[in-house]
Amino acid sequence: MKQQIPKRTNRFYDTYRFDQPQIRVYHKKGKGKIMPRYLLKCGCCEQKLDIYYAKDGLEIGGVNGSIEDWQEILLPLLMIRQQVGKPVYVKKKKKK
Ligand SMILES: [Zn+2]
Repeated sequence: MKQQIPKRTNRFYDTYRFDQPQIRVYHKKGKGKIMPRYLLKCGCCEQKLDIYYAKDGLEIGGVNGSIEDWQEILLPLLMIRQQVGKPVYVKKKKKK
């Protein structure tokens, strides 16, 4: 099954669905060497974030990483409500 981001109306300061202004989401198709991307704009101001995507990786805000890398970082953050407390950054134990 294909995961899809539902189309949004992208109104400025739209608090209808969530308790805070909804993120405005725009999609641009790839062209030649340029990867397809999502442009995310803050619901309350002109701050924005580009997410370029390909089958094997994502570039989020200029930071490149594999899908697995991003999953390891973002999934705990996205599941924050289900967790007790907050995500923890686990340091690798030093080998002796
Ligand atoms: Zn804002």
